[in-house]
Amino acid sequence: MKKLPSRIIETLSEIVGRENVICEKEELYSYFPESSVALEDLEFAMVFPRSEEEVSALVTCAQENGLCIVPRGAGSSRRATPTPLEHSLVVNFIRMNRIIEIDERNLMVRVEPGVTIAEIQSALKEKNLWFPLEPDTIISPTIGGCIAENTDGLRAFKYGMTADYVMGVRLVTAEGNVLSTGRKAIKDVAGYNLAKFIVGSQGTLGLITEALLEVVPLPGARTLLVVYFPGTRLAANTVSNIIAKNIIPSILEFLDNTTLRAVEEYLDVGFPEDVGTMLLIELDGHPEVVQDDANTIRNICEEQGAIGIKTYGAPESASQPYQWRKSAFSALSSLRPFTLLMEIDCAPERFADLEESIKNISEIFNVMIGIFGNIGNGNFFLMIGAENQNPEVLDRVNKALDEVYRAIVDMGGTILYLHSPGEMKLSKIQGVQPMFSEREIEIMRQIKHTFDPEGVFHSGRLIL
Ligand SMILES: Cc1cc2nc3c(=O)[nH]c(=O)nc-3n(C[C@H](O)[C@H](O)[C@H](O)COP(=O)(O)OP(=O)(O)OC[C@H]3O[C@@H](n4cnc5c(N)ncnc54)[C@H](O)[C@@H]3O)c2cc1C
Repeated sequence: MKKLPSRIIETLSEIVGRENVICEKEELYSYFPESSVALEDLEFAMVFPRSEEEVSALVTCAQENGLCIVPRGAGSSRRATPTPLEHSLVVNFIRMNRIIEIDERNLMVRVEPGVTIAEIQSALKEKNLWFPLEPDTIISPTIGGCIAENTDGLRAFKYGMTADYVMGVRLVTAEGNVLSTGRKAIKDVAGYNLAKFIVGSQGTLGLITEALLEVVPLPGARTLLVVYFPGTRLAANTVSNIIAKNIIPSILEFLDNTTLRAVEEYLDVGFPEDVGTMLLIELDGHPEVVQDDANTIRNICEEQGAIGIKTYGAPESASQPYQWRKSAFSALSSLRPFTLLMEIDCAPERFADLEESIKNISEIFNVMIGIFGNIGNGNFFLMIGAENQNPEVLDRVNKALDEVYRAIVDMGGTILYLHSPGEMKLSKIQGVQPMFSEREIEIMRQIKHTFDPEGVFHSGRLIL
């Protein structure tokens, strides 16, 4: 592996201390186990700042030496976590992990970017408060990473996404200065809301060094129902009937048969033999209401022909059923050497029809397609797998993708993104409309240029 020149390593060591700089091959590789990028060919290092001052100095050092900065949190999104670029500096925030303030009177918390969601939740629990995000990752992500990606996670149906909770951020900009934006004011419309604007910018506009977040009271009770159905339509009907009763579960997740079989193989769960699909239904709130709603839901599930219902009282995020769902990506990926991930939106009432079409496509083209996600708000993931990269196999995958795309559009759905690993040589999906107009892309380029005129921060996956 190439190495950054020793004079740059020395400057970095002066800023953060030698023990907070990594430039050795083996250690660097351990941070990118699933990388499809040939790290051998890259000249890069990783640093672990512990204060905002150090972050500012790192940006100045990067500017002076022409390094491109790639920020990093817990690396929890595995393949989606940005990999190093040529002549780059990975700024890893996990050692900036202090909870600065818990403001019980204003229901807010102020944190450094490297603190994980689990750590925030644990600190708040002592005060009977809660940060309701439940990210879809095996290891708990950092708040910096969640702000950068506007993470929604499993509880989005009831609790929304990261942007809904961000009141303010501190950002080290391309000049190495600190931009402090946002405040403890709910309706902040005296100017553009820059704090919300930073949310979802994927680390391309600056480095988040602090966040001010809204929090909520800890619910008095929580219950999780794991419900097995013979097929998708019954599960989808169940969801419609639950919502029609004005019950809003905090989690309403769906796993199809392919995903369940993958998770079974991956975790050796012991799902019932005849299971077709599964719903995870989490309820939270006042204990009596939770109890009543759970009874109503159990009745609905039975009426719809559920073949098994298991109740977990007061479950923690680490409980098995959450891990089944969070393992779906890895489990499906482990079934095929080449997989690609598509995120889609689809009206919940059309989902059963869409799933049926996708299953047919999967059979016709003999391509593995697993489907799972939030059936409450119609946000799903499709994991599409190929056994190898022979032309015949790729041809089948491409054709299946075309048909899947058509099915989604016919059902009024949208494709949010398609993540194809570098190695998989897929042709462009026929007929996909560009997501943004020329004008939108031009405005986005201008925004990037305003924040980062010399391109010191990476461009992530933004369409620029
Ligand atoms: C485009 C995208 C969308 C995603 N959407 C969801 C979702 O909706 N729900 C869900 O559960 N999971 C989602 N994920 C997975 C998601 O990555 C994690 O939920 C979480 O955001 C990752 O946090 P992390 O600490 O592991 O960050 P990493 O995976 O290490 O990094 C994630 C991103 O955050 C940036 N970043 C990290 N720290 C900082 C910082 N201090 N300042 C600036 N930028 C920083 C990185 O450059 C990178 O772009 C998404 C991932 C990607 C790539």
